[in-house]
Amino acid sequence: APGLYIVATPIGNLGDLSPRAASILSRADVIAVEDSRVTGKLLNHIGVKRPMTAYHDHNADRVRPGLVARMGAEAIALTSDAGTPLISDPGFKLVRDARAAGHAVVTIPGPCAAIAALTLAGLPTDRFFFLGFLPAKEKAKADAIAEVAAVRATLILYESGPRLAATLALLAEGLGNREAAVAREISKAYEECVTDTLSALAARYENAPPKGEIVIVVAPPGEAAAPPEADVDDALIEAMTRLP
Ligand code: SAM
Repeated sequence: APGLYIVATPIGNLGDLSPRAASILSRADVIAVEDSRVTGKLLNHIGVKRPMTAYHDHNADRVRPGLVARMGAEAIALTSDAGTPLISDPGFKLVRDARAAGHAVVTIPGPCAAIAALTLAGLPTDRFFFLGFLPAKEKAKADAIAEVAAVRATLILYESGPRLAATLALLAEGLGNREAAVAREISKAYEECVTDTLSALAARYENAPPKGEIVIVVAPPGEAAAPPEADVDDALIEAMTRLP
């Protein structure tokens, strides 16, 4: 049927493409892709050949009206390079305009690095706040962190290897030394999830920036946080009174 189909694709392991996603991709009149090499590889993997058209940050405003116009008569699938479109990826305005034009919008849910990392971290999952990528510049990054310091939720952020240690250090400074997790290469051969306090994680990665794709998950304030130093002092003093 005509309309816009939001198709989630794997974040590493091609086996995570759902049968329904494969079926929609094989029947779409056109697939709007971030990078035709990346989606082409996926289509190849499932033995599908469909026309692709580029839809990315640099051409989206120009090509969006044309895509929306086609949705009345054609099935347009949207994919991003990895995971769920619209999540730190292009697509929100395409959905907005498709709805405004009265077209059907269908989602084919699937992998999302943020949710996958949350399930690995061992931190509270009842309330979480997704920050996407923080700004690159240090001052803007620190400001963005200060803005969420009081949010009573687990925080989820995307980050790159080279910036990881500096971001962890800024998080420790701005949020307090909370428990956190660094989830890396989820669903791939070198998948790893390291949990520790923010400062310990910053120290761990300072001289060894990790390769691959990374999600940072940070505990909410109060809960599961490292105890304030005064509490540690009290506990030590109390323990010393009990020494023989
Ligand atoms: N739309 C995607 C999703 O649903 O997760 C996210 C796209 S965003 C441009 C790419 C970022 O997601 C990476 O820089 C990394 O932070 C995170 N990411 C993607 N794949 C990942 C993986 N396999 N393991 C860990 N993080 C990943």
